[in-house]
Amino acid sequence: MRALDATSVTGVSPAVAVDRRSRAASPRSMVGTATEVLQLLRMLWARVGVRHCPECGEAVRPLTPDAIADRIVADADGRRVQLVAPVARGARRRHEVAELVADLVAGGLVRVRLNGRVFNLSAEELDFGTRRRHDVDCIVDRLTPSRERLDRLAESVRLALDLGAGELVCEVVGDEGPSAATTYSSTIQCAQCQTPLEPELTARHLSFNHPLGRCPQCRGLGTVRAFDPGSIVPDASRSFARGAIAPLTRAQYADPRSDWSRAFAAVGRAFGFDRNTAFADLDPRQLRIVLYGAGDRRLKIHENGPSGSVVRRTWKGLIPILQGACRRDPDKARGLARYQADVRCSACDGERLMPEFRAVRVGGRRLPELVDMTVDGVL
Ligand SMILES: [Zn+2]
Ligand SMILES: [Zn+2]
Repeated sequence: MRALDATSVTGVSPAVAVDRRSRAASPRSMVGTATEVLQLLRMLWARVGVRHCPECGEAVRPLTPDAIADRIVADADGRRVQLVAPVARGARRRHEVAELVADLVAGGLVRVRLNGRVFNLSAEELDFGTRRRHDVDCIVDRLTPSRERLDRLAESVRLALDLGAGELVCEVVGDEGPSAATTYSSTIQCAQCQTPLEPELTARHLSFNHPLGRCPQCRGLGTVRAFDPGSIVPDASRSFARGAIAPLTRAQYADPRSDWSRAFAAVGRAFGFDRNTAFADLDPRQLRIVLYGAGDRRLKIHENGPSGSVVRRTWKGLIPILQGACRRDPDKARGLARYQADVRCSACDGERLMPEFRAVRVGGRRLPELVDMTVDGVL
């Protein structure tokens, strides 16, 4: 993020005037969105928020031009360098490249490298040659970086980052032309775990109504429609054999030879329960295995009674099996809908935003935390 243009703002009334608009309600609407308070907050968070790594929680600050200048002084170690801004890579349209270069020249930048060849445009014309794709670099400055001339270096770094969209290449200049190039970037990455972050942060990135910011799993709703264990097993005092699993038919649970009964018996044998164990008596691990599967472990399933043939199969779990049935068969999906409920989205923990934008903090607070508070709490 860019440094703030202002260090303080005075003379602005602390009252916030809020527009009240009437419009169609969506499942995403709430007081904050129906008024414009939330939009103002998003702008605030986008402007002054401190980015935090979504993986490890570490504060992530982009390298400032001054910090990059410092590094260049250290890396150059007294050698002469040139600062190069990569302006275009593989550009196809000559007239666009020509316009780009004309802009550079108008800004006083006359040393341009086109496809590796340097042109001094104060004295010569650009020559495109026969190539169809063009790489354009602008040579922003040539100097020997030193602490004494840090201001000029930082100024050039700023300009190069600007032209190079956050990237600049520092090339050591020797007698045989440039060698040993180092790329510096003002884009952001967690120093702790190297997770790259989106360099841009705007109010849209903090909006659950915008594709840039909303959680992709729940599409910004904070909840997803999912099978609800409480609806699938509404009466935990029952056992499998007495119909504890509500979506199963009587033939599926009451007949010990049904596919479901045999699979359930196999899971029970492997994990210490049977078809007559009440669900309330399953320990948390057993219940988790029944609902969500036993992973890659292959279980012995008896095809025709205990003495019959045996197949080895994995147990996918009740909920994944029901999910699979819904995907394959829309009719079944309609029938099973009543065992589903809106559950908190696991990707965003119900906070509706992408992890890296949920993690932006102002005054130590994340925007979704603030949104969760009451008006009194916020004030
Ligand atoms: Zn991290
Ligand atoms: Zn989500």
